[in-house]
Amino acid sequence: MGNPKAFLTIGRKEAGYRPLHDRIYDYAEVEQTLNIEDRRLQASRCMDCGVPFCHWACPLGNRQGEWQDLAWRGRWEEAYRSLAETDDFPEFTGRVCPALCEKSCVLKLHDAPVTIRENEVSIVERAFAEGYVTARPPRRRTGKRVAVVGSGPSGLACANRLNRRGHRVTVFEKNEFIGGLLRLGIPDFKLGKKIIDRRLKLLAEEGIEFKPSVCVGKDFKTKELLEKFDAVCVTIGAGVPRDLPVEGRDLKGVYFALELLQQQNRVNAGAQIPQNERISAQGKRVLVIGGGDTGSDCVGTSIRQGAVGVTQIEIMPKPPVGSNPDTPWPMYPQVLKTSSSHEEGCERRWNLATNRFIGKDGVLIGVETERVEWEKDDAGKMTLKHTGETEVIEADIVLLAMGFVHPELDGLVGDLGVGLDARKNIAVDDANRTTVGKVFAAGDASMGASLVVRAIASGRRAAENIDRFLKGQ
Ligand SMILES: Cc1cc2nc3c(=O)[nH]c(=O)nc-3n(C[C@H](O)[C@H](O)[C@H](O)COP(=O)(O)OP(=O)(O)OC[C@H]3O[C@@H](n4cnc5c(N)ncnc54)[C@H](O)[C@@H]3O)c2cc1C
Ligand code: SF4
Repeated sequence: MGNPKAFLTIGRKEAGYRPLHDRIYDYAEVEQTLNIEDRRLQASRCMDCGVPFCHWACPLGNRQGEWQDLAWRGRWEEAYRSLAETDDFPEFTGRVCPALCEKSCVLKLHDAPVTIRENEVSIVERAFAEGYVTARPPRRRTGKRVAVVGSGPSGLACANRLNRRGHRVTVFEKNEFIGGLLRLGIPDFKLGKKIIDRRLKLLAEEGIEFKPSVCVGKDFKTKELLEKFDAVCVTIGAGVPRDLPVEGRDLKGVYFALELLQQQNRVNAGAQIPQNERISAQGKRVLVIGGGDTGSDCVGTSIRQGAVGVTQIEIMPKPPVGSNPDTPWPMYPQVLKTSSSHEEGCERRWNLATNRFIGKDGVLIGVETERVEWEKDDAGKMTLKHTGETEVIEADIVLLAMGFVHPELDGLVGDLGVGLDARKNIAVDDANRTTVGKVFAAGDASMGASLVVRAIASGRRAAENIDRFLKGQ
């Protein structure tokens, strides 16, 4: 803590987003960066607390106090080394993490937490710019082979840790691109894909073998997988989206959020999509059903595609603005979030259920919604009450962004015969073991849909457990 008074004398300063009139015409990252002096000053606001709540809240156990002090002192390389010890990919979390740490920062008590996430991304970007993020292949190989199935953040983190320990790792991915939802879910305006490519190049130089366009269970048989590898880690994500099976669901114009987002990310990467398969909001009225982050990504994407209007509806009530007594500090606050996409122009409404999709000649023209009310019962549980007050919202495209239920159960999961938990996620014990010998699981596939930071933490933990298993411990 180089400057013990900085938290009193220096205010929180965010880098902010590119101007609206500029950013909505492209898919480049919207977030800006501070100059290096301002960044050092922001890092100096950290009090290096005796009880660092930021560290407590971070699923990776990042040592925010340590690396922010080093950044303030201008010791960027040491700051990066400290950060990289607990986070395999700070360039991803620094961009897309909802920053659980900041919400728990002691300075959040005065609504001006340290800009931890932005400080993190500055440290890692400086590390790349100054050339001290280099490939570090392991000195010795153990002779053991591990298959990682699924190349999202949990699979990549697991592969990275195992490779560092000298095991030979092959990552299988059914898509043509490596990266999971980082690549084909999260829009480019939040996470530019060159950032993923830069990391993958290093991982490949360090010896990890990537096999894109191989769906394990289909293109590569499960039996062969178990025969050829000493251990397998299943990190296939929670790929099944929650559906809304009401009247009119099969009308043309009703899509899952990921259908739009994946396609747009592919188009940005240069893919040619046949006209009859292209999902485009250009000149259309868009209704996004689901008030969460995936919904917000649909809003930003629709705006960039040229929608004439975007509405986002949510069945739950509007969260409180600012603070919420139900989730006091240092808990993650359940409050209204306004993303960069919301700022770009979208109507947001709450307490609306969807009764049916309305169509003409098989094509969507509107959605009948109904106002609902929520009441807390004596046990504090929220119960839904229908009011009968209906309203038709005109729409040409509906995007269903209501979360994900569990991993795909056909194919690999069924073939392996791994046990499932009550929510149909892959059941694992404390050591990430599934019910099938030498098969482990991590990330959304075993936890349920979550966050990039939790997926990385889960992948790291699985790697440690697999390493112990391979050593016979
Ligand atoms: C639109 C969207 C936006 C999001 N934005 C954020 C955000 O801003 N911040 C945040 O923290 N989190 C965000 N999330 C959540 C986050 O992306 C996920 O929690 C995280 O990616 C999960 O990582 P994973 O490695 O477990 O799985 P995934 O990233 O889902 O990767 C699983 C991979 O396994 C592959 N696979 C599946 N089956 C097979 C098979 N049989 N053979 C080979 N490969 C297979 C899939 O194709 C996929 O590539 C977002 C999610 C979505 C959908
Ligand atoms: S809680 Fe905030 S001020 Fe304290 S160590 Fe963490 S980042 Fe620094």
